Amino acid sequence: KSLPYFCRGEVVRGFGRGSKELGIPTANFPDSVVDNLPADISTGIYYGWACVGNGDVYKMVMSIGWNPYYKNTKKSMETHVIHEFKEDFYGQILRVVMVGYIRPERTFDSLEALIVAINGDIEEAKLKLELPEHHKLKEDNFFISAA
Ligand code: ADP
Ligand code: MG
Repeated sequence: KSLPYFCRGEVVRGFGRGSKELGIPTANFPDSVVDNLPADISTGIYYGWACVGNGDVYKMVMSIGWNPYYKNTKKSMETHVIHEFKEDFYGQILRVVMVGYIRPERTFDSLEALIVAINGDIEEAKLKLELPEHHKLKEDNFFISAA
């Protein structure tokens, strides 16, 4: 099993699917990071820890899914950091550790249903990451070295 899985990469522009308008911005990794994912990391929603540049380590939820832009032939990795940032951080290095799996990807009948599901994922991530074994990963050297 590949969890916990550590990775890092530059934050690139996504496809403007309006995540920010939903109040849930998702920072995208470049294809090179997605291509390095171990084969046994399936699509779906994950939780873990994240840090932007040399900033603090926050809880995160990540969606790994098929990218409609590439006619669903390419995966994307989108991280929502559970923190209010004053500014966007395109071009900065995002470090994440994926700690656990929440649920598979699915479609929703309405935007409201999607938002309810994502907020549920965020609450689950917050709770799970309070477990002592998960808190240890927040202090991992991976996050201490300079970005
Ligand atoms: P895009 O389609 O370019 O990914 P989004 O609407 O998903 O656009 O917004 C993502 C961007 O918002 C990130 O790349 C980052 O610069 C910024 N951002 C601000 N706050 C957050 C946050 N808490 N989590 C993730 N990204 C954030
Ligand atoms: Mg996004």
